[in-house]
Amino acid sequence: MANIRVAVAGAKGRMGQEVVKMVLRDPELDLVAAIDSKLDGVPVADVLGVQSDVRFTRSLAQALHDTKPDVLVDFTVPAAVRNNAEMAISAGVRPVIGTTGLTEDDLRMLDEQCRAKGIACVVAPNFAIGAVLMMHFAAIAAKFLPHVEIIEYHHDQKLDAPSGTAIKTAELIAAERKEIKQGHPQEEERLEGVRGGYVHGFRIHSVRLPGLVAHQEVLFGGPGQLLSIRHDSLHRESFMPGVNLAIKKVMELQGLTYGLEHLLNLSA
Ligand code: NAP
Repeated sequence: MANIRVAVAGAKGRMGQEVVKMVLRDPELDLVAAIDSKLDGVPVADVLGVQSDVRFTRSLAQALHDTKPDVLVDFTVPAAVRNNAEMAISAGVRPVIGTTGLTEDDLRMLDEQCRAKGIACVVAPNFAIGAVLMMHFAAIAAKFLPHVEIIEYHHDQKLDAPSGTAIKTAELIAAERKEIKQGHPQEEERLEGVRGGYVHGFRIHSVRLPGLVAHQEVLFGGPGQLLSIRHDSLHRESFMPGVNLAIKKVMELQGLTYGLEHLLNLSA
């Protein structure tokens, strides 16, 4: 079978660099384009210290036209991701998206556009397989211990809060329990925001500090007991097996797949 041709948008970014390296390591994948808005024409090898003939390209449209990738991996910024994905799909290229910030409307649109083209798209708020398991276990725990708060911790350069993983975890928990009023009925917030963001009847707290990568704790409380389900991504390499799996699976699917859990056989 022919190798899968991969383009990477945001290839100079923290995640993009890891994706480029992962693609170059896998003998079943070919890196055909690396998109970055500032490094037009600069060899990827010079910037990332890897062996590759590919040069950074400023224009995604040009890269899609010139290199005809099978898959576009996008780790860019919330403001760019929808446009990038639309451009890829209209060129018949399958998006694999890690960038956060896509709304429900965006996801619906991606699904429709992919189906019209007979291709697929994978969007995953978290490509770390351990994090997907953390979300899965949290959804199970919520059936039995419905009082819950989510605390997510990220590096201080992260643009959005809460994280896509925290939102996704909240959705999975909400699907497993009825919305209940947590805490004291007369609870009063004396400092704005101190109780965190309210979603589906519980709270999300976002911590931003240098030194952190991506971490989340889901804390369940019951009379006389606490259950803590925690995942730590200590290095961005932790996301790469999930991105690699998505690149391969997106070739076989149709329409939108939202969440890496749908590519893993979690019930087995
Ligand atoms: P980052 O280091 O800031 O990288 C983003 C890169 O995107 C930058 O190099 C930026 O470079 C580039 N960029 C901006 N606009 C662009 C455009 N229109 N086209 C192409 N490239 C563009 O951020 P990061 O830490 O790698 O994270 C990227 C995204 O992935 C964030 O949304 C983050 O939340 C998400 N993330 C997801 C996961 C997951 O598992 N799903 C894990 C970690 C992070 P220039 O400005 O030079 O173009």
